[in-house]
Amino acid sequence: MKHVVILGAGFAGLELATRLSESLEDEVRTTLIDQSDSFTFGFSKLDVLFGRKTKEDVLVHYSDISKDGVEFRQERVTEIDPETRRVTTDDGSYDADILVVALGADYDFAATPGFAEGGVEYYSVAGAEHMGKALADFDSGTILIGILGHPFKCPPAPFEAAVLLHDHFLDRGIRDAVEIRTVGPMAAPVPITKELSRTILDLLNECGIEYIPNQQIVEVDRDEDAVRLASGGSIPYDLFVGIPVHRAPDVVARSGLAVNGWVPVERHNLATRFPNVYAVGDIAALPMAKAGVFAEAAARVVADDIAARLRGDVLHRSYEGAGTCYIELGGGNGRHGRGQLLRRPDADRATRRAIPRACRRQGHFRSDTARAMVRPVTESKRRSTWAHRR
Ligand SMILES: Cc1cc2nc3c(=O)[nH]c(=O)nc-3n(C[C@H](O)[C@H](O)[C@H](O)COP(=O)(O)OP(=O)(O)OC[C@H]3O[C@@H](n4cnc5c(N)ncnc54)[C@H](O)[C@@H]3O)c2cc1C
Repeated sequence: MKHVVILGAGFAGLELATRLSESLEDEVRTTLIDQSDSFTFGFSKLDVLFGRKTKEDVLVHYSDISKDGVEFRQERVTEIDPETRRVTTDDGSYDADILVVALGADYDFAATPGFAEGGVEYYSVAGAEHMGKALADFDSGTILIGILGHPFKCPPAPFEAAVLLHDHFLDRGIRDAVEIRTVGPMAAPVPITKELSRTILDLLNECGIEYIPNQQIVEVDRDEDAVRLASGGSIPYDLFVGIPVHRAPDVVARSGLAVNGWVPVERHNLATRFPNVYAVGDIAALPMAKAGVFAEAAARVVADDIAARLRGDVLHRSYEGAGTCYIELGGGNGRHGRGQLLRRPDADRATRRAIPRACRRQGHFRSDTARAMVRPVTESKRRSTWAHRR
């Protein structure tokens, strides 16, 4: 029996482990390793930020994983040798016949001087909790949402937060006292799709939120309450919300797998240049958005590729880089939260696929937990979709 070792139990790792359990139960045994005891959906951080859920509500515990042939180990990966496929953790070592690196993206707070001390963030659960408290005390002034580096997870998320902030202050009856601005290094909110960028810009405009394009923040200056720009200017703020610089986890950077920060892979099957080593999800160097929906889709292709090779076959359906992602548009006054953000021919198909995606979450965990964590599909009334096909 072949031993598959999956590093990281996020969207990609969970999906792959589930697929292997379901399709190759008699042919592989899988070890799934993660440093955490629980998984969190990206959008849950917005729920925590706006006080709709507590941290405890959004954690999905790995102790609930119940998949035949999958052993979960809560350990921190400390070394990866892609030549020998040996993995060392803080509690032991593993030799893999097939190794899959799905360790996601880490945040590099130190990359932006002053950010850790002078800003808040909602890209981590702890950060969302902390920012939620800061919001409760914020009655007037300028909130600046700054994208500090590229690529970053879920490209629409900064703008989604901006619009939800607009709602938050409307609900509190103090929207007129709060200015909301967004700034980033990209020419448009989501450069990979002009149509979605246009829709986001229209929505921001409707909510009285500015997007300042093509500006790289190089420092958060707490003394001046302003961010410094590479172009030489500065932008003042009263509350600075940063989307942190993303980078590969240190253990991946040290392993020799990464080139220019991320792990190069074959586009069609996510294989790295090392035999029997794959990289999937946010860690992979692919020219597409870092998002859970793409990580899941890629993991399914890796499962198919492993199955095909074990059976002496070849992969019949290559990775396409397609997917659908919800954007919460809020429900405040003057908002249109319906309609599709993409009006391309495959947009309808993308919308339909959003529902099975939500249902699939039930695949990784016991049903009670899954039911609790699946966002009701009816909420899609307040959401639009976006999709990107390479
Ligand atoms: C605010 C926000 C909103 C988002 N909204 C959406 C959305 O609506 N739709 C969507 O598709 N995507 C969304 N995303 C993006 C999505 O969360 C990520 O793209 C997705 O999690 C990537 O999956 P992954 O499996 O590659 O990595 P991850 O899910 O990050 O999993 C990586 C795992 O590796 C583990 N790990 C890392 N280093 C080590 C180590 N040394 N040892 C052991 N374990 C380690 C981590 O604990 C983690 O569990 C959002 C993200 C954010 C921040």
